[in-house]
Amino acid sequence: MANPYHHSLSSVRKHGGKVEDYLPIHNWFDESKMMMADFRHRALRHHAEGIFMCEKIFGQTITNSDNKKIPTRFIGEQHVKEDLGFIPSMQDWFKHIKAEKWMALTPREINGPDL
Ligand SMILES: [Zn+2]
Repeated sequence: MANPYHHSLSSVRKHGGKVEDYLPIHNWFDESKMMMADFRHRALRHHAEGIFMCEKIFGQTITNSDNKKIPTRFIGEQHVKEDLGFIPSMQDWFKHIKAEKWMALTPREINGPDL
């Protein structure tokens, strides 16, 4: 599943309501496509921490147009599982980042010595 609209249709099948009830959450998960056009964009929000971040942004529940409260985390879990088949941790993504020297450089002349 690749498009927020299709994720939203899936949410409607699971929880009722309308596509528009769920689009803001599914759009939020996939906004990182603005930065990276291929599947690697998912490293930013498609993990357990991203699902909790979603809950902080959208609240613990949303009320759909059937006036039914849906836990936001359920919607986030659905999105990530539909894209990846499971919910990875952020560490699952990070362990595949190849370390580069520039990532560890600290400009000591600006910040002073580490304490
Ligand atoms: Zn996605």
